[in-house]
Amino acid sequence: MCLLAALFTSPVVADEETGVTAFVNVNVVRPETNSIDESRTVIVTGTKITRIGAANKVSVPSDALVVEGEGRYLLPGLAEMHAHVPPAKLGREYAEDILFLWVTNGITTIRNMSGEPSHLELREQIASRQILGPRMYTSGPRFMGRRIKTPEEAGGIVDEQVAAGYDFLKVHMGLTRVAYDGVVAAAERHDIPVAGHVAPDIGLWRALEARQATIDHLDSYLRALVSDAADVSDLEDGLLGAPYTPHVDESKIAVVARATRDAGTWNAPTLTLAENFVGPYDESRPLTGAEYMPPKIVRSWVGLATVYQKSITDPEDAQRFLSYRKRLVKALHDEDAGLLLGSDAPQVFNVPGFSLHNELDLMVEAGLTRAEALTTGTLNPAVFFDAEDTFGRVKEGLDADLVLVAENPLQDHATLRNPSGVMLRGFWMTSEELQTGLELIAARYVTGD
Ligand SMILES: [Zn+2]
Repeated sequence: MCLLAALFTSPVVADEETGVTAFVNVNVVRPETNSIDESRTVIVTGTKITRIGAANKVSVPSDALVVEGEGRYLLPGLAEMHAHVPPAKLGREYAEDILFLWVTNGITTIRNMSGEPSHLELREQIASRQILGPRMYTSGPRFMGRRIKTPEEAGGIVDEQVAAGYDFLKVHMGLTRVAYDGVVAAAERHDIPVAGHVAPDIGLWRALEARQATIDHLDSYLRALVSDAADVSDLEDGLLGAPYTPHVDESKIAVVARATRDAGTWNAPTLTLAENFVGPYDESRPLTGAEYMPPKIVRSWVGLATVYQKSITDPEDAQRFLSYRKRLVKALHDEDAGLLLGSDAPQVFNVPGFSLHNELDLMVEAGLTRAEALTTGTLNPAVFFDAEDTFGRVKEGLDADLVLVAENPLQDHATLRNPSGVMLRGFWMTSEELQTGLELIAARYVTGD
């Protein structure tokens, strides 16, 4: 049964134009300015925020659905900037479950990194509110491997993806320099962004020269930090460049950060991905939400992480690898290179939605303030997509993508893990409704298959 139908008796489209919701007496959170506007009333009409004012000044329309804020905090919905919407071959129900896991965690926008034709359809169904899901930007099918032999061939595929309506091009590992250059040239012709991995044949400097829109996972950065004196010609990239750790020249961290800023390239570091591979898992890094994933997938994650952890010969080096990744994030931040919140989910213990909270914590461990870390998932994605007039802040005229939480998230991110409710473009879901949806998903997997 469709999760949405099971959950909600009224369709998502009810009163889309005229329905009014009033959040009365809430503290409006502005991560982008590290500030709180206390005791506000926020009026939502249809899908948009239409009025924000002092709680004692704004009158609430008599037909409004009233959400009593009681001093709780209202912040903009979050964006997961490295998401993987499941492919059609894994079934429609699973894809809709994953979309719901994002929503329950306050995620109202996703950037889908491995698009396929079925995702174009999902993107439209979400936009037209036939199904419940975060606003989706999607790449086309990934450019990967050594199959593409000439720039013309690469350009032909780019033409097809642009014609199909994908939002950006995803470059993946194993891409040859010839293929990459072909993709980049064709992308320039179409003015469509290129984003994703940086294959060893490309390297950081070529990716920056090509003004790649995003580099994900801090791909190729460790390799670029290798000291000029070291000979690493026989090393392979391994896990995100981990084998280069002993050869890093720390003075290069600021250099690559500045070059990244100058190129205008953004980073979605997915810190949690490397942390999950290296482990260990404890209370400081909870692997929450596994009960909402198919056990088969969780078992495959355990397998991948176990294999990697067995390959670690020097645990201190593994920790140094993780700390270089955080220092890179801090340096990128300090040099004003753009950062985007992304965890890479579902992937190795990154349960969609839940994993983004871990990524937020890691951004803070890297040295960002809580407000700065939150901004990488609120305003920054809107700036990145040139959609500041659509989402990213609690502001009149913007889409009503909102999360209501009990505590001040600028003081403690943990409150974001248990929202009192989530509003998705004007559609309000209480924590009870979200919980019911989660229970329905968990019930699919209790048999252990
Ligand atoms: Zn990915």
